[in-house]
Formats: sequence, structure tokens, C-alpha cells
Amino acid sequence: MPGGFFIYEASGKGRILFANSQMAAIYGCEDVAEFLEHVGGTFRGMVYHEDFLRVENAIWAQLSGTPDEQPAYRDHVTYRICRKDGSLRFMDEYGRLVPSERYGDVFFVFVTDISSVASSPSAPQRKARNLSASPDMDPLTGLPTMRYYHSHVREALARATAEGVRMADVYFDVDHFKTVNYRLGYEGGDEVLQRVGAILRESFPDDLCARFSDDHFVLVTKREGLEQRIEKVHARASHIISSMPLEIKAGVYELAADDVSIAFAHDRAKVACASIKGRFDRIYRFYDETLAINEELREYIVGHIEEAVEKGWIKNYYQPVVSVPQKLTCSLEALSRWVDPERGIMSPAQYVHVLEDARLIHLLDRAVIERACSDLRRSLMQLGRAIPISLNFSPSALALLDVPSLVDEMVKKYDLPKDLIHVEFTESSLTEDPDLLRLTIAELHKLGYEVWMDDFGSGYSSLNLLKDYDFDVLKIDMEFLRGMEGNKKSRTIVRSITNLAHSLGMDTLVEGVETEGQFQFLCEVGADRAQGFLFSAPVPYEAIVGDFLIRYPPARMK
Ligand code: C2E
Ligand code: MG
Ligand code: MG
Repeated sequence: MPGGFFIYEASGKGRILFANSQMAAIYGCEDVAEFLEHVGGTFRGMVYHEDFLRVENAIWAQLSGTPDEQPAYRDHVTYRICRKDGSLRFMDEYGRLVPSERYGDVFFVFVTDISSVASSPSAPQRKARNLSASPDMDPLTGLPTMRYYHSHVREALARATAEGVRMADVYFDVDHFKTVNYRLGYEGGDEVLQRVGAILRESFPDDLCARFSDDHFVLVTKREGLEQRIEKVHARASHIISSMPLEIKAGVYELAADDVSIAFAHDRAKVACASIKGRFDRIYRFYDETLAINEELREYIVGHIEEAVEKGWIKNYYQPVVSVPQKLTCSLEALSRWVDPERGIMSPAQYVHVLEDARLIHLLDRAVIERACSDLRRSLMQLGRAIPISLNFSPSALALLDVPSLVDEMVKKYDLPKDLIHVEFTESSLTEDPDLLRLTIAELHKLGYEVWMDDFGSGYSSLNLLKDYDFDVLKIDMEFLRGMEGNKKSRTIVRSITNLAHSLGMDTLVEGVETEGQFQFLCEVGADRAQGFLFSAPVPYEAIVGDFLIRYPPARMK
């Protein structure tokens, strides 16, 4: 016989009950006893460890079928094995699940060594995956793909509806998966996804569970008891990585009998999931009326941003920054407002993240810088001087537009001195694309612009940022000032950050200063600048150059 044959128990680690002598030969062992010792007597030990989760997911996904189908009882997978001499070989296996009175369910498996077709020194793992590639199976996790899901889910639902079973569409997303990749590398990230896939499969053994893309998994399951099952998935997933708790979030859309479009259900489950992203107090969220209203706003924003820019609905407000302790105005921060003819004034909290998600944020950022430059030009013409303006660029804008070129283009167009424009990046820019951020900062510096770090201390990697990136000003997040009066620790933290920034050659600017007491504290710790409602909320340009500068005269320009 050209291939090997073995039988193993379907439960536990898969204890091997029988193996023929060919199996020993495939693994480079003298006899079956040596083979069993080499693989630890289990199916788990037979498969190369990097491939095991994918293979196990794939086998069970194939066997479970979909809720409407008879289970298949058969599987076909490809994986690597490690021989006794340490070399890797590629196996093609056909398995069949057989009930046994004595052992419970067992697998009868036939394997062939296909290394001669598969081996390649370049990317063996990818090769092994490609061999088992099918448009219906995700090569990384072994779970069904979006294509398979869409072609099978409708019948599953029709059947559940006919039986009067309430069903739900669940969308799972791993929070901060970029950080996982960043910390563990892409291979580590891949393994985490395989484990998430395995947990979902084990937690929803009778349901159609698919991986749609990246860290997004989808399933259709019974509504009953869903909360408890999601909580269990969350608890298990949180232990996947020992050094950081993994947060897996779920969005649920309860399917009604007359829901015709599964894509519709799926989008709503996704919206529900997105609404709790980054929140540590929520594990899952059901789609409800509030989300429907938000979604309507989202659609409006995405559908009208071009018109808003064109018709001047995007306005620039400015919030002054004053020097500490002199209280002289040293710069203005441009903060946009969407003044809608029908909906009134909308704040950035309503539209910035929507535009970021829709990858349209560059339209806003471009409009805001253009308006800021034209306000500066007007001030230079009318008053003969102008106060520098800092501009916010969202992390995702870096990939959508060439920020340094845009800044330089605008400064040239309005014939401005370069020290009138500063660029702010938020701390979260790091997780988007650290290399791109580094290059962008270097390019802006080369062109002669200051680059500021916004909201320092609000994210995860603040100290790394200071080590790896060159910023001119550190804007300390306003959360540090909240409750500062009663909290000795936050005082110590602001003091230490200020000292640290100074020793690294940066100025500090503390955001969110609302009380005279907070301002006094900033004087004590030696912060350089302050911004907040104590001085002014963001207001239109005319209000600054009118009243404000009389109360807080401009500092001498550089
Ligand atoms: P940010 O850059 O950190 O701006 C500071 C935010 O804090 C502003 O909110 C401001 O109104 C608010 N703020 C200032 N002083 C105080 C204070 O004393 N107390 C409190 N509670 N809040 C204060 P706003 O204008 O709603 O902007 C929110 C965020 O939206 C900004 O945070 C910025 O990240 C983003 N953003 C605003 N405009 C734009 C824009 O044109 N483009 C991009 N990409 N992002 C923008
Ligand atoms: Mg800012
Ligand atoms: Mg800020």
C-alpha cells in the first residue's frame, strides 16, 4: 500500500488505536512502537505543531456541515509532519468518522506523503496551505470562508424559521488586533487567529461559523442562551496570550422571520460590534434602535462629506493655547465643526471616526488646512501678523494623503512662513503604521514644520513613542487633569511627564485646563503651555482675533 493508515479517537487529544507499518515508515521510525513513542500516541502529536489548530478546525468544520445539511462524516486536509530525524514532510489525509461501540467516535484515516509535489525550501507552510486551498475554506484557520457562508446560510435560516427557532447573526472582532500583530509578529498573530477560530468552533459546534477577513468571524446560531455562550468565548479568548488579555467583542443581530437579506443582518451585527470597540465594560451588544439612528447619521456623513466641503459647511473653529505662567497666546488649534443646513452644528465626535472608518478623512483634513491657511493669510494682510495654527491629522489620513506635501503645498499657495503651521498626530497613529508615521515626521521636519504629539498618555505605547519618534511638543491628554485636585498620583504623573519631556528637549502643553487651580498646578510643575475652557472653548476665527487677543495678548512670535 503506498500510503499509511491509522485509527484514532475523535475525543480528547485523539489517542491512536491502530497504525500500520507504513505509518512508521512515513515518520522514519523502525516500527509502530517507535512511531507511537515519537508522536506521543496521539493524533495531536502526529501533526506538526504550527499546523495543528488549522487542521483540527478544518476537520470539524467539514464534519459538522451546516445546520441544514446532514453531517459529512468525511474530511480532507493537508498538513506537515515532523519525522524522527527532524525533517518535515507534507501529508494529504482523507478521514472518515465512524461510531464505535467500544471507543466512542473514531476516525479512520488514510494518508499519503505528498512531499515530492509540495516541498519547497521557500515557504513550506504557505505551500501546505495552498494544497488544501479551496475557495470555501480559509487557509489560515481552516474555517469556512465568506463565500461558503453566504451560499449556505440562507437555507439554514429558512429551516430554522420553518421550525420556529429564533436565530441570530453574530459578528466577532478582536479588539486592537493590530497591537497583537505588532507585539507578537505576523506569525504570532496568525496563531492567535487560529486559536480564536478553534474557540468559536468548540463553543458553537452545531453552527455555521466562518472567518470573513482579518480578525473578523461570523456565525449564525440559535438566539437562546447566546449571551452565555458569547461570555464563555470572551473568557476563553482572554487567556490566549499570556502577556496581554485579548478582548474579543461580539455584535448580535436578531433575525426576524421576514428578514430577507443576510447581508443586511450581517451589516447590522457588524455595526453593533463596532459600537463597543475599545470599550472594556462591554463584551457584546445587540443591534437596537439607538444604533439604527447612529447608522442613519453615519450614512448621511459618508454621503455628504464632499458636498459639505464644497458648500463650506465645514468650518474651522480655533482654540487658543497660552504660555505658562504668562498667559500669552502662543498658538491656536484648528478644530473643525460641520455646520449643516438641516442638522445644525455637528461636533468632530460625530463625524471624525465615521470619516476615518470610511477612509474619507483626508477630505476633511484637506478642507481644514486650506481654511486655516487662508485665515492666516487674511490675518497677515489685515494685521501684519498672525498666530501659528496647529492642525490635527488622523492616523488613517497618513495612508490616504501625502501629509508633508499637502502642508507644503498649502503653505506655498497662501505664501505663509513655515513656522505658522504645526502638525498634530495623536498617539493612536502609532498602531496604524509605525514606519509611515516615522517617515512622515522626518519629512515634515525636513521641510521645516513642527510636529506635535496629541493626547499623550491616552493610549498604550506612550513611552515607546518618546523613544522612537521625534516630536517638538508633547500635548498631555486632558484625562490627567480630571480629578487631579483629590488625586496625588495624577499630580506626580503630570510633573514627571513634564520633566521627562524637558529632558528629551520637548515643550509640554497640557490640554483640558478648566480651573484656575489646575493652571496654578501647571505653573508649579513647570509646564510650558496650556489649553482649555479656562481660557476659551473653540470659537470662530473672528472671535479670537477680536476679543480674545485683548485679554490674552499674543506672545512674541519666533
Ligand atoms: P483634540 O485634538 O485632542 O482636541 C481637543 C478637544 O478637546 C476639542 O474637542 C476641544 O473642544 C476639547 N477641549 C478643549 N478644552 C477642553 C476643556 O477644557 N475641557 C474639555 N472637556 N474639553 C476640552 P473637539 O473640538 O470636539 O475635537 C475632538 C477631537 O476631534 C480632537 O481632539 C481631534 O482629535 C479631532 N478633530 C477635530 N477637528 C479635526 C479635524 O479637522 N481633523 C481631524 N482629523 N480631527 C479633528
Ligand atoms: Mg489636537
Ligand atoms: Mg488632544
